[in-house]
Amino acid sequence: MRLLLLGGTSEARELAARLVDAGVDVTSSLAGRVARPRLPVGTVRVGGFGGVDGLRTALDDFDAVVDATHPFALGMTANAAAACRLDGVPLLRLERPGWDPDPAWRYVDSHEEAAVLAGRLGAYPLLTVGRQELARFVPALAERPVLARVVDVPDLALPEAWELVTSRGPYTLAGERALMRRHRTDVLVTKDSGGSYTWPKMQAAAELDVAVVVVRRPAGPEGVMAVTTVREAVSWVEGLR
Ligand code: NAP
Repeated sequence: MRLLLLGGTSEARELAARLVDAGVDVTSSLAGRVARPRLPVGTVRVGGFGGVDGLRTALDDFDAVVDATHPFALGMTANAAAACRLDGVPLLRLERPGWDPDPAWRYVDSHEEAAVLAGRLGAYPLLTVGRQELARFVPALAERPVLARVVDVPDLALPEAWELVTSRGPYTLAGERALMRRHRTDVLVTKDSGGSYTWPKMQAAAELDVAVVVVRRPAGPEGVMAVTTVREAVSWVEGLR
């Protein structure tokens, strides 16, 4: 059983480790967006496949696929669903649950909406949405003293009023508190990423009375079996052997 594991998340790394331990022939795939990614154990390939057609060609070498990409990695998830359907390759979606909604948080459906709402709710926005989304915040927040936190420096030239900090989770409550105090953050924007790595910012925001804008998750692929835990994904793979 040769498994292709579409990764880029902590769950994918954990799953790779569990499957390698169990003797599964697993190849983890990373997009190659991050300069120095945390590598999973086992075989790793890096870079896009070249759309659905490229992925279909790659699938010749695999018997099953687990798509454990980030909940907001829409393109890869859609391509995996299409390629596996066309080629009859078993596909499992592993997606960590979103955070339990807090009544104080404001949910929106897009980053553009988040930008406008953040501009209304506060004067000092902290953006933790990833570097690829930053351009979508520029029209509404170009003049604001935005603090944008990203893993790698974006290609985009940022507005003069913005400050960029680069760092990578997992984060601590003390660190998040200090960051928000220094910047005088009064509104935080985040994706509904779920998980524990980036949860401390939500705790710090609650403590410091910072408004929170959460970008809702896009809908998952239709007709694809989905689980929320690494344990369930391991069982699915074991069931195929
Ligand atoms: P995306 O928009 O869904 O993907 C765009 C293209 O990047 C895909 O069509 C594919 O190129 C390539 N790609 C994405 N994930 C890949 C993977 N695991 N292996 C090989 N190629 C991949 O994805 P994204 O939002 O840019 O995310 C890129 C990676 O970062 C994903 O692996 C994701 O798990 C991780 N990540 C994303 C976020 C986020 O907020 N979006 C947060 C944390 C981690 P081809 O069409 O050429 O195959």
